Amino acid sequence: MKDKKKEEKTQGSSKKATESSQLQNPVDKYPKPPFKGQKQPWPGLACKMDPVPDHGEKTYKGSGRLQGRKALITGGDSGMGRAAAIAYAREGADVAINYYPTEEDDAQEVIALIEAEGRKAIAIPGDIRDEAFCKKLVEEAVRGLGGLDILVNNAGYQQTQESILDVTTEQFDSTMKTNIYAPFWITKAALPHLKPGSAIISTSSEQATDPSPDLFDYAQTKAANTSFVRSLAKQLGAKGIRVNGVAPGPIWTPLQVSGGATQEKLKRFGGDTPMGRPGQPAELASIYVQLAASDASYATGQIYASTGGGGQP
Ligand code: NAD
Ligand code: MG
Repeated sequence: MKDKKKEEKTQGSSKKATESSQLQNPVDKYPKPPFKGQKQPWPGLACKMDPVPDHGEKTYKGSGRLQGRKALITGGDSGMGRAAAIAYAREGADVAINYYPTEEDDAQEVIALIEAEGRKAIAIPGDIRDEAFCKKLVEEAVRGLGGLDILVNNAGYQQTQESILDVTTEQFDSTMKTNIYAPFWITKAALPHLKPGSAIISTSSEQATDPSPDLFDYAQTKAANTSFVRSLAKQLGAKGIRVNGVAPGPIWTPLQVSGGATQEKLKRFGGDTPMGRPGQPAELASIYVQLAASDASYATGQIYASTGGGGQP
């Protein structure tokens, strides 16, 4: 009798496993162009996009890969940062997120999702173009989490301009401050707290190696992010701290609808990739998990691309 019950239970769980591992065509998995034109004031909110991006809210399943870890993610309110925050919490990590103060609506959704997993969630709004704030951000994260062993430098600023003549010094400065100075300041402040086994992850881009003509200033910063990873990995290898990066292709996030792309580009966004559609942040979540997890212990100095087949890291 007992054995029969056990057998039924086993059959039930293998049936479930078969259902959940059914093949799915990635080409049809998510919305394709044409998209509606849409514009939001910078930095934009994911909750106001049409269609609303998928960050894995309903789909990401954890399996304890980051149990007890402590992560700080910049730009954790939306896009790739939010997908990483949800996945990290479901893998058992406590998570602090930084975001720009006007992104409170998106950020509060993420905080609720982390807390729903029974994990600690720390919200630290503030402008990372300011060195003093970057130092404070790390201090607050370390205090709130009781330490730090995963740092994800993910926040980014991108504004499309047809010509170099349209790039103002103010824009150039914001792009450099957000994408290059902030990761430098935050990593410097975090390093004294990172023990062997810790991981640093940067969000770079396919723009690092295949820059678009209208992203002149932004593409330079993404090349810098890739060099940051490759240099710092060599510097920190002997200390047991791994440094890796993610290079997304066109991903459906607020960055694109708040000045990052022209309306024409948005309407056909991702259409020129082999997949024929943009990626969704949820599709990159497992990469951020893999690069942080202790079983990836020999991977450092690497850039992992997710581009729908279009670009190379
Ligand atoms: P996103 O708009 O969701 O995330 C960017 C985040 O950066 C914002 O949510 C905001 O919180 C943060 N940020 C920007 N300026 C800030 C400031 N001054 N102070 C504090 N926070 C600030 O868009 P996303 O596409 O998920 O961007 C995340 C990363 O992905 C960026 O580094 C971006 O360069 C990179 N990326 C995006 C794409 C894409 O197609 N969406 C492609 C390649 C790389
Ligand atoms: Mg945002």
